[in-house]
Amino acid sequence: MAYTWLALDLAQEQLGVVPKADYRLVGLAATGPDLFDKPLAAFYFYRRYKSAVLFAHTLLVNLGVFWLAAGRFRPLAVYGAAFLGHALLDRLWLFPNTFYWPLRGWRFHVWGKQGSEQSEIGKAYWYAFTRRPELWGWELGGLVALLLFVWRRRLYRWPNLRQFLRTGQPPVR
Ligand SMILES: [Zn+2]
Repeated sequence: MAYTWLALDLAQEQLGVVPKADYRLVGLAATGPDLFDKPLAAFYFYRRYKSAVLFAHTLLVNLGVFWLAAGRFRPLAVYGAAFLGHALLDRLWLFPNTFYWPLRGWRFHVWGKQGSEQSEIGKAYWYAFTRRPELWGWELGGLVALLLFVWRRRLYRWPNLRQFLRTGQPPVR
């Protein structure tokens, strides 16, 4: 979400695009694939397929969103772009069984098969974060992006933050 907000902030400043974009909706769209897939995983698919990255993370759905955002729903393109950015930040091409679904079969990418720790979705996240320090780099980068965004738009001042939360638009610089 922070990476996307900062990218939008810079795009608005440098390119003068979508001045009226609602950052709240952009944030929702940027996390959209997870908001869709994680509950599905928690309810059924993780138990069944050991996978938490599902339909909304496929190339198929991403192409569909691109097609809609570039065509019929052009005014909503900024939210489509935020949704597509998620695929980039998740580096989905590294999970070909999910990304190319269903071209490689009906199964989704299975997370590292290292034994019993993968049996619960919560534990799988815990193991991923404690055993793969490079993931912290992405999280730290996100924190830096958030701080930069807050600083650029002066959101550390309450009236500015209140406007941002109420309208979805940070004050103009
Ligand atoms: Zn995701």
